[in-house]
Amino acid sequence: MDRPRIAISSCLLGEPVRYDGGHKRNPRITDELSQQFDWLPLCPELEAGLGVPRPPVRLVGDRQQPRALGIDNPGLDVSAALTGCAQRMLPRLHDVSGYIFKSRSPSCGLIDTPLVDSDGRDSGVTAGLYAALVRAAMPKLPLIDEQQLEQADRREQFLREVEAYRQSQAGRGG
Ligand code: SF4
Repeated sequence: MDRPRIAISSCLLGEPVRYDGGHKRNPRITDELSQQFDWLPLCPELEAGLGVPRPPVRLVGDRQQPRALGIDNPGLDVSAALTGCAQRMLPRLHDVSGYIFKSRSPSCGLIDTPLVDSDGRDSGVTAGLYAALVRAAMPKLPLIDEQQLEQADRREQFLREVEAYRQSQAGRGG
């Protein structure tokens, strides 16, 4: 039987796609979950053409509609590049049964990406621009980040959600 196909922030698989050329390889994912899932690795910042290395960005402003601005150069605004890229990437998610995101990223963070106000002051946390668009477009797709994966209850819940989603995909012929 086919294994579930899961989209994933590609830095979590060890791909050197971070702004500084590094990665965030996660052994639970590469050594454990790789036994049961096939991966669709995606890096929205790379897909948006921002390159490696690239200037680091952070989320600034309104919690519902933050901007992704350069940390060293606040005049750099990659918000449109990221959201436009997200729209183009959505069709590639039609056959995945879940998505594992990198936490705290201005693109991939699900719930815990740091937000600052226009003066650079801490303004809490929110979702990354890309992850927020995926969630809005595919509200039933099981989503989790790599921090949540470390919680056994939450991890088991995600696995159950993936199986249920997969069955619903089979029921509608893909
Ligand atoms: S967190 Fe997302 S945007 Fe950042 S390097 Fe990883 S995959 Fe790319």
